[in-house]
Amino acid sequence: MVTSSENLRELIYQKLVKAEGKIISISEIYEFVNDNCNFDEMDLIPPNLYGKPVKEPRWKRNVRNVLKSESDKNNIIWKGRGLYSYYQLESSSIESLSFNVVPRKTFFGLDKSQAHCFTIPKVNNLELKKIYNLSEKKLQDNIHLIYNNKKFPAIIRLVIMDRSKTRKLAREDLPSREIIQLSWISFKETKNMIKKEFNYSFNIVSRGGNNEAEIAKFDITEEKNFQVSLIKKNPKIELNKKIKSITCNIPSSFVKRNIKLANDRGNGEAKLYIGSVKDKEIFDQFFNNWHPMNTYELNKVDLLLYLQDVELDFSKQSKYKAVSKKLYRELFDKVERLEENRIDLTYHEDKSRYYLRGTSDAWKLIRQTCLPLITTLLIEVKSNNDDGPCDYVVRILRSDEERAPNPTSGIKSKSRKKKTPRKPKQTTIKPMPEDSRTVSDDLKDRVWRRDQGMCQANYKLDSRLDKNTGEICGSNENLEFDHIVPFSRGGKTTYRNLQLLCRTHNRIKSDKEI
Ligand SMILES: [Zn+2]
Repeated sequence: MVTSSENLRELIYQKLVKAEGKIISISEIYEFVNDNCNFDEMDLIPPNLYGKPVKEPRWKRNVRNVLKSESDKNNIIWKGRGLYSYYQLESSSIESLSFNVVPRKTFFGLDKSQAHCFTIPKVNNLELKKIYNLSEKKLQDNIHLIYNNKKFPAIIRLVIMDRSKTRKLAREDLPSREIIQLSWISFKETKNMIKKEFNYSFNIVSRGGNNEAEIAKFDITEEKNFQVSLIKKNPKIELNKKIKSITCNIPSSFVKRNIKLANDRGNGEAKLYIGSVKDKEIFDQFFNNWHPMNTYELNKVDLLLYLQDVELDFSKQSKYKAVSKKLYRELFDKVERLEENRIDLTYHEDKSRYYLRGTSDAWKLIRQTCLPLITTLLIEVKSNNDDGPCDYVVRILRSDEERAPNPTSGIKSKSRKKKTPRKPKQTTIKPMPEDSRTVSDDLKDRVWRRDQGMCQANYKLDSRLDKNTGEICGSNENLEFDHIVPFSRGGKTTYRNLQLLCRTHNRIKSDKEI
């Protein structure tokens, strides 16, 4: 039996309204829907994009679609991880509504458009829409902020975002369809009060820093006023959250034979030394969040950018055991072809040190490609759940400065006849000037992310591409950084003047320019 999404919608509401205010899991919703319909269990959805058969009946997917669209419209509240709830607001429940906001640039009007506003956490949208009758017909309402028993005027506003530029954005970066903002742009008194009350964060944020110490708490009182208060975060509790990444310099002992230092006599080890027990507090806190269900992924784009940065080092045959241009090309090719970027990573600790072990091709590839002493390995939290598994990204970056070999790098000090003199410190000018042709790592990184590692050529460069749909080439092979306005014609090396093009399209473009 096929059930229309209208029927499913009704059933889902029946279930959620009955349990008003309570949190219901998606499996309970499936069960309820299944009990109330006669579905054809054989009505399975077609194979997925990768051709793998999907053993799930079609109706389950439709349930999720309905839940998704209803929570987009804020009719049902998505509580994360397959949990949903529904509130039918009565005036008495308004008293309890409160939310926290971390003051950032727009909060203080320090952004370009001097917004003096912030977005209220989405979970409150349904309640707020009801309290202030916000809809497409009535987009804003006047409210008051209450501070020290004084009233300050402000505005609560429903913003309906369009999704017109979806091509440029990753799915998770898409703006939510509706957001609710609180703003006080036209009220000088309110602005002064905020600036005074949140003086500490104002100073940090205005200097370009990230406020970590203060939170603004808003409580809605019976009269529908927002009571403002300042919470200073407990630095001890924060510490745990602050350690979002750890880094280590890759030693010669860890890498595969070809790229070991020429004077390295050690046999090497598969474990990566990341630090000593001296820094126990930091490591314990970082690994405290480690969980068997975590995922660790190698950031392939970083590794490719890294390889571009160390290309010349692969010709330093006196420094590394068996590097060569040929090896470089082989490795580059291998990284480009890497399909599975998951790493099974575990950490270990002995009396004196912390180290990591990994399995999988991605980890092997790190050992094969990362030159010792000039490579930093960074592990970063990608998404953080407070009490469950997290996603981590493993990033490879060229270090700013070469490290001296450390005692655990497998180089026996006896075998070193002379200490290799350390390179004099180079004073590197950090932000690459815009009138230099060279693209800095950071800029490469940002352009690559924006263009999602795809060739951006469109119909202007290649008439085979469709003008009307804005089709782009999208190739991810042999990518190059192109100056949109050519460097030779005064084009600057900036985020906006750079794009990714595949070699073929870059050639076509330069031919046209000549
Ligand atoms: Zn192309």
